[in-house]
Amino acid sequence: MKANCISCQEMVNTGNHPRLGDICNCPKCDARLEVVWLDPLELDWPADEYSDDDDGYDDNF
Ligand SMILES: [Zn+2]
Repeated sequence: MKANCISCQEMVNTGNHPRLGDICNCPKCDARLEVVWLDPLELDWPADEYSDDDDGYDDNF
């Protein structure tokens, strides 16, 4: 199965049986992506990269 990279829109192969939480790498921009939805297949940044969100740290996002 394939889904669009959220960084560069390249089609990223997630394997034949992707599961929620699976991590894959974009072959074009090398972004690290997590499967966050299966129907339709959707990728997002891995949750562990948001670990600073609860600190009241918000200068860029
Ligand atoms: Zn990409």
